[in-house]
Amino acid sequence: MNYQKILEEITTQTNHLQEKGKIASYIPELAKVSRDSFGISLHFLRGDHYWIGDADKRFSIQSIAKVFSLSMAIGLLGEKIFQRVGVEPSGTAFNSLLQLDYERGIPRNPFINAGALVIMDILFSELKHPKQALLDFVRKLSGNSDIDFNQAVVTSEKSQGFRNTALANLLKSHRNLNNEVEEILDFYFHLCSIEMSCNELSHTFLGFANHGKIPGSDEQILSTSQTKRLNALMQTCGFYDEAGEFSFTVGLPGKSGVGGGIVAVYPEKFSISVWSPELNEKGNSIRGMKTLELFTTKSKLSVF
Ligand code: GLN
Repeated sequence: MNYQKILEEITTQTNHLQEKGKIASYIPELAKVSRDSFGISLHFLRGDHYWIGDADKRFSIQSIAKVFSLSMAIGLLGEKIFQRVGVEPSGTAFNSLLQLDYERGIPRNPFINAGALVIMDILFSELKHPKQALLDFVRKLSGNSDIDFNQAVVTSEKSQGFRNTALANLLKSHRNLNNEVEEILDFYFHLCSIEMSCNELSHTFLGFANHGKIPGSDEQILSTSQTKRLNALMQTCGFYDEAGEFSFTVGLPGKSGVGGGIVAVYPEKFSISVWSPELNEKGNSIRGMKTLELFTTKSKLSVF
C-alpha cells in the first residue's frame, strides 16, 4: 500500500472543505491561527512514518491533552478514579452544564470538560508539583523534552473561561472538587494549552497503540488492561456528541480538540493525526474528520 500517495490524494480530495467551518474564537488566542493550516501524520508501530502539509507545525492540542491527564490519573490511582467520573458517552456538548447538575456532579466521562476538571482535581491532590509533573509525563511519553504550555493561550482562555468556571463551581457544589476552583481551572487551562505538531502527536499516541508501552523503550505508561480502557473511552467519548458519527465514519478510537487537531489509533498497528482549524458546531475539525474517514476507507484499516 502506498500510504504517502493516499495522504496526497486525501489532501486534494478534502481541499474544498476549507472555509466551511469556524475557528474556535471563544478562545481569542486560537483565532489568530491561519485557517488554511493543514497537516497529516501517520506513524506505524513497525517504524515507517508518512506525513504531509503542516505536519511539523505546532498547534494548540486543547482537549486532545485530556488523554494525557486521564492516562496519568489511571496510572497513578487505577480504577478508583471512576468513582468520581463515569465512562458513558454524554450525548451533550463538551461544555454542557445541565447533565452535570441533574446527575449530581458526577460527569459522564473524563473527556467532557466537567470530567476533565475532576481528573485535574485528582491529579492536583496527588502530585507535589502538578504542572511540572504533567509536563514531565507528556515529555516522557512523547520522547520530546521541549513540549510545553503556551502561556498566551492560558491567559486567553482564562479571560473568557466563564463556562468552565461555572462547571468547576457546580462540581464544587456537588462535592466533587476537593481543591480550590481557581487552582483547578489554572491547571486545566495549562493542560489545554499544550502545543504539539501532527508529527509529534501521532508519534506520542503510538504508546496507546502499543498496549501502553512507549515504542522502542522499556517504559510501560499503562498496563495492557488500562490501555484497553483508555482506548475504549476514546472510541465512545472522544468526540463528545459526535462520538457515534466518528465511530460510524472513521472507525478508530480517537480524540479531538478545539484547536482543530484529531488523533486516532489502531491498536497494534498505527497512530494517525490531522490538523485543520475550522470546526463544525460540535467543536470537531471538519476537514480532519473527513481526512480520517477517507484514510480508513482507502487503506481499509479500521478496527471494525
Ligand atoms: N480548552 C477548551 C475548553 O475548555 C477545550 C475544549 C475542547 O478542545 N473540546 O473549552
